[in-house]
Amino acid sequence: MAKYPISLINLIGFLRKLPGVGTKTAERFAFQLLTWPQEQLEHFSQILHTLKEKVQSCPECHCLMEQAECAFCDPMKRDASILCIISCPKDVYAFEETRMYRGFYHVLGALLSPLDGRMPDHLDLDQLKERIQKLHTQEVIIALDSTIEGDATSLYLKESLVKLGLKVSRLAFGLPMGSPLEYVDGSTLSRALLGRQHF
Ligand SMILES: [Zn+2]
Repeated sequence: MAKYPISLINLIGFLRKLPGVGTKTAERFAFQLLTWPQEQLEHFSQILHTLKEKVQSCPECHCLMEQAECAFCDPMKRDASILCIISCPKDVYAFEETRMYRGFYHVLGALLSPLDGRMPDHLDLDQLKERIQKLHTQEVIIALDSTIEGDATSLYLKESLVKLGLKVSRLAFGLPMGSPLEYVDGSTLSRALLGRQHF
């Protein structure tokens, strides 16, 4: 890296941690930030400073929330008989945008990956089963990424959940192989949801 002032080098180091940002782009961002008015930089840093404090994870579904009540866990507004299992909180927003799903969500947080040592005990299945009992869930839709890890986790979940007498379905693929859900467009996701298959 060029012999920039040390604060600039530190900034570039952080920007490079962002997905898809290499050294060149990080340098461009850093020089751009230097041109921002002080007030705007302070506002930006304030948002970063309080981000984790303000944006919390719902203790029930693990979706993101900023108010005391989770918008995705309101039984007056949502159908508790159906539960959609997703891998990360961001996927919720893709489902909400389809406007076709009014059930509950459960964010798994991790996928199985035996090669990286992520085994079934990383999934906290006990909490998922407790929720299913509490909500009187009838159908579970498994909506995990179409990747090796996603497939392995889906199979494992299916085996555990059918034992509870639940109807288990999986998104119809439809979804391109090897694709994380966040890259799937809304109409493909709608079709995958409508055509979900008994699993
Ligand atoms: Zn919630």
